[in-house]
Amino acid sequence: MLDTPFLEDRHLQLAERVDRFVSERLRKEEPGENEDEHARALVGSLAENGLLDYTVPDLTDEGASALDVRSMCIIREHLAYESSLADLMCTMQGLGSFPLTLAGSEDIKRRFLPLVRDGKAIAAFAITEPEAGSDVAAVRTTARRDGDAYVLDGQKTFISNAGLADFYTVFAKTDPETGSRGLSAFVVERDAPGFSFEEKIELIAPHPIGRIAFDGCRVSAANLLGEEGQGFKIAMATLDTFRPTVGAAAAGLAWRALDEAIDYAKRRVQFGRPIAEFQATQMKLAEMATELDAARLLVYRAAWMKEIGTGRVTLESAMAKLFATEAAQRIIDAAVQIHGGMGVVRGSVVERLYREVRALRIYEGTSEIQKLVIAGQLLKD
Ligand SMILES: Cc1cc2nc3c(=O)[nH]c(=O)nc-3n(C[C@H](O)[C@H](O)[C@H](O)COP(=O)(O)OP(=O)(O)OC[C@H]3O[C@@H](n4cnc5c(N)ncnc54)[C@H](O)[C@@H]3O)c2cc1C
Repeated sequence: MLDTPFLEDRHLQLAERVDRFVSERLRKEEPGENEDEHARALVGSLAENGLLDYTVPDLTDEGASALDVRSMCIIREHLAYESSLADLMCTMQGLGSFPLTLAGSEDIKRRFLPLVRDGKAIAAFAITEPEAGSDVAAVRTTARRDGDAYVLDGQKTFISNAGLADFYTVFAKTDPETGSRGLSAFVVERDAPGFSFEEKIELIAPHPIGRIAFDGCRVSAANLLGEEGQGFKIAMATLDTFRPTVGAAAAGLAWRALDEAIDYAKRRVQFGRPIAEFQATQMKLAEMATELDAARLLVYRAAWMKEIGTGRVTLESAMAKLFATEAAQRIIDAAVQIHGGMGVVRGSVVERLYREVRALRIYEGTSEIQKLVIAGQLLKD
């Protein structure tokens, strides 16, 4: 971890705590056959060790809506160093519940947030659809008011924790005639009538994800977050908050790759000497380390700005996510190269990192979308 001016002593102490959790608990856990069971067990372990406390705001402070983003980044960076699944399960508790923190009634917050923090309810965030990926305004799922309920119809795909989650924050059109202004956000529990988990999607790296559907799915009107039409605003504010944390996870994966590359370069002997003595290897290592620190600086700057409340951090969050995820891909690719053939052998750490880092450039807005967001901020009047 980089000791940046954006971090305080408590963050460094938290980093040590996460490292202890990783070495005393995470490394000893057997993954088992079933990914969902493993994922659920990880949520339990994270909760027992108090790490899910950071995924929701301070619950003793009624009305609090601020998340400790720097701490979330520290946790993600240090968990991702060891296990991208542990990192994912931790962050999804935050991403899936943050719209409730932002716009839920006091009753909704009281019902769900303590369960999220204690690992007793698994959360999910559901916006993407088969025809609406980057183009969020194209969402087709509808939510029609019917007395004291809303009736949802539609499909969502690529939903992390699909089938595993106890509740989903679902974005649906209350006004299907308009674009983003017609979007609203709802809490949908897994046992809501008309809700179904359709199927899992297999990815190149461990990640519980799949498709869900709503067929006349009834949810209480009290499950609407904020007001009708505020869904897009809630979704964007959630992404602004969580994008630096995606960058932090990328930094964690890249940091592990750099450590693995340094270790291997010192051990691997070719032409009578360790490959670390060749300048070509040294150039690579120097570039990897420099990119990693640059990524961390952008990540912790965005997280710090979010916390000190200078207003929207759309620009800085998008820069952090864009640079850190792209840099992590380059760093991990270089680590594979330094490992030569061993780098592509199934089961080697860098091979695993190579698969795990890929999705980070896609979810929570692709790199291309981050560039559009950045340019949009630059060109704004
Ligand atoms: C591992 C993983 C986890 C995910 N988890 C969730 C989740 O929990 N909840 C959820 O709601 N969604 C989730 N998603 C979905 C994710 O947010 C979308 O995949 C992402 O927004 C891109 O949408 P798409 O896949 O439909 O690609 P598309 O939008 O079809 O994009 C395809 C390509 O076109 C490019 N492109 C699109 N529009 C433009 C443009 N205007 N200018 C330039 N280039 C453009 C994109 O950058 C991309 O390269 C997840 C995805 C993955 C892979």
